[in-house]
Amino acid sequence: MLLHDVKQAVSIIDNPDIKVVINNDSDSHVISKHGYDLDIGSQIGFIAKKVSQDKELNIQQRSEIVHALKDFQINAQVYPYDRYIKEASNNLGVILSRSETAKSEKKHYVWNLNHYLGLNRNPEVIKFSQECIRRYGTGSGTSMVAGGMNEIHRKIEQFFSKYWGKEESIIFPTGYTANLGTISALVGQDDLVLIDKECHASIIDGVKLSKAQLLPFRHNDPIDLEKKLQKYSGKYHNVLVVIESVYSMTGDEAPVVEISALKNKFNFLLYVDEAHSFGFYGDKGRGLCYEKGCINSVDIMMTTLSKSTGSAGGIVSCSKELATYIQVKSSPYLFQACLSPGDAGAVYKALEILTRDTTYQDILWKNTNHFRGKLLEKGFDCRNSKSPIVPIYMSDPNKLALMCKEIFENGIFTNWVAYPVVGLHEGRLRFIVTANHTKEDINNTVEILYSAYKKITE
Ligand code: PMP
Repeated sequence: MLLHDVKQAVSIIDNPDIKVVINNDSDSHVISKHGYDLDIGSQIGFIAKKVSQDKELNIQQRSEIVHALKDFQINAQVYPYDRYIKEASNNLGVILSRSETAKSEKKHYVWNLNHYLGLNRNPEVIKFSQECIRRYGTGSGTSMVAGGMNEIHRKIEQFFSKYWGKEESIIFPTGYTANLGTISALVGQDDLVLIDKECHASIIDGVKLSKAQLLPFRHNDPIDLEKKLQKYSGKYHNVLVVIESVYSMTGDEAPVVEISALKNKFNFLLYVDEAHSFGFYGDKGRGLCYEKGCINSVDIMMTTLSKSTGSAGGIVSCSKELATYIQVKSSPYLFQACLSPGDAGAVYKALEILTRDTTYQDILWKNTNHFRGKLLEKGFDCRNSKSPIVPIYMSDPNKLALMCKEIFENGIFTNWVAYPVVGLHEGRLRFIVTANHTKEDINNTVEILYSAYKKITE
């Protein structure tokens, strides 16, 4: 009998202290490869990291271990990383998988896309993007400095400089490379970078590339940051503090006022990634720092253009001196083809729409409040998130794993965050509300969640 024929409780834990619960009496739930026992519930990213540090194995053997685990999990229908949406980004979609285990034509409610304002489906945005492809061709051909830049790129840069009150702005092809390229250009081996513990991988990778000292401070804790500034800032040549305005794993808003006020006591540059607030916090969507009145204390403002503007790209706004320094020093800026004309066109039109009309922001917040309100009514634990990123915490990792399987089978496509990415009892489902979701999507989703929860806890 195939594993997927067996009703099983699947754990996504890889912790020797915890018993993996698999109600499977016919098939083994462990396979071996190159001396590694792979449990059906093992977190594949965690295993990949573990084998990458094993000096007894070469690259081919490491890959074979990870691939064997993937095949094993696909066969058991518990591998979530090869799913995709047939008709791409929208509030509803048919979910397929590379391994072709998901074959149903049933539409799922889609909750894992960051298109907060729903402008990815806006007819004006699509029309202008098409117009830009006609005018400027499909690709940029080379990097911004080597001749790939066009007039729409420059208009986007000028827009952000004015919007955030900074002297200059520069575009990267993605948000990831904006963080990677800017941080690695600014700091070096005699410098210290203090980051919030929940900062995105692109920030951490930027610090690693720079060879500066990386020191995380406790999540959203300005007191811990102050202690670390007190203790270490005198020991380094330069200090850079990097935070996000809203954190993607929790939906928590950062204490931006308290953190920026530390500039009165210590000498550091402040870098804020507004990926999850630009477009829907503050007047005309200028973000959380603008809303809280501390944007002038921020030296480097950054956001991705893949979320509220429904396209791709990253923008960095700062002084003209810093901008020049980044432009001539950052490898991801210098040696990467820039944003394609069609993507740039979508960004430009989305910026025009979100600053002239608050309809999309209003729908997004109405949807967010309605969704969170209904979840709280049903007794789900959403902690202190206020943003359109809505987590549902489940402290029991086995129940979380079962819940993921159950809701997917009943038509919800979303992400979950589990150990070892977060603590063992800090696992959660994560929903991203957009202006494209309807009241019906929200109500039906909450009903599916509630029935699934009742079923697995009965
Ligand atoms: N910063 C943050 C806080 C993010 O959440 C992300 C992506 N989710 C990025 C940067 C990278 O942006 P992009 O996916 O547009 O490259």
